[in-house]
Amino acid sequence: MSNPSILILPGDGIGPEVMAEVRKIIDWFGAKRDLAFDVSEDLVGGAAYDKHGVPLADETMAKAQEVDAVLLGAVGGPKYDVLDFSVKPERGLLRLRKEMDLFANLRPAQCFDALADFSSLKKDVVAGLDIMIVRELTSGVYFGEPRGIFNEGNERVGINTQRYTESEIERVARAAFELAMRRNKKLCSMEKANVMESGILWREVVTRVGQDYPEVELSHMYADNGAMQLVRAPKQFDVIVTDNLFGDILSDCAAMLTGSLGMLPSASLGAPMENGRPKAMYEPVHGSAPDIAGQGKANPIACILSFAMALRYSFDQGDEATRLETAIEKVLADGVRTADLMGPEGGVPVSTSEMGDKIVAA
Ligand code: ATP
Ligand code: MG
Repeated sequence: MSNPSILILPGDGIGPEVMAEVRKIIDWFGAKRDLAFDVSEDLVGGAAYDKHGVPLADETMAKAQEVDAVLLGAVGGPKYDVLDFSVKPERGLLRLRKEMDLFANLRPAQCFDALADFSSLKKDVVAGLDIMIVRELTSGVYFGEPRGIFNEGNERVGINTQRYTESEIERVARAAFELAMRRNKKLCSMEKANVMESGILWREVVTRVGQDYPEVELSHMYADNGAMQLVRAPKQFDVIVTDNLFGDILSDCAAMLTGSLGMLPSASLGAPMENGRPKAMYEPVHGSAPDIAGQGKANPIACILSFAMALRYSFDQGDEATRLETAIEKVLADGVRTADLMGPEGGVPVSTSEMGDKIVAA
């Protein structure tokens, strides 16, 4: 059997820097754990624009559709701000998401013990936190029609439409239940069924899908209360599933429970392919960070944790994912810190590449 395949798209800014550290990890798994991958690399974002005049070449798009998983660094930068909207680096990313139909966006918020002091919240609120937000990514108010700014009488009106079909809700709900089964069998669905029809349908469909997962403890919460509970007592949650707009807000809120942007991975999953694996793209939550690009300051952990998610969700290597996460935990416990993680208590300052080396060693 051939090795599982990965397409690496390092992109712009700190993307290539953090991805170089992921390559070290991938090489280690090949050499030490007999877990070899067929890795290819290509351009996306500004880097692709510089070479091809488009932020994602058709051949790259085709390759992304064929591989078992795509790993993406980051796209964009001030150099490309002047470009026309249609060729902006971000459009490369959007094209990948859209054409691969990646409807379930998984964003974990996990607090490593060594960084519990570093969070914006009190230590006892976040220590040991490990939750997962599943955000619907391809529908809802960001895409619903009608949309636009229209004339109405003698003034203008801005219109967006929250729209969800049953099948759109069902597929993301199913992804969330599957995830809950692999974790702690606890799922909370968030909407505003008290004021929105799409929320009423959302609750109904999620409840119906839940009948296929009797082992999962399902609860429902209004999204505004969910925001409050996330800040007040986030450890009451395990998996949260919600729509595109609420997910955007709630996942950013959850992200800040854990500390630095440099620590946050994500996965975007689509429908299962012929081999049973979901279409998948993994990327750090952070952007291209032009302010620190090229200086060896970037924290590679978000990108490395994204690869750990790939091990778990695309390659059925949950134990190896845990092995990698444990190594990161150990390095952090030893006080090793990139600049973004350096708190008042100090630590061992390291560069991007030194952080990668320490994790490989651990
Ligand atoms: P985007 O529009 O792509 O979301 P952004 O400008 O909003 O980009 P980032 O590029 O993520 O956001 O950067 C936000 C801030 O966080 C910057 O000051 C950046 O230096 C910092 N930052 C982001 N990622 C990292 C990282 N991996 N390590 C250290 N600092 C980071
Ligand atoms: Mg941003």
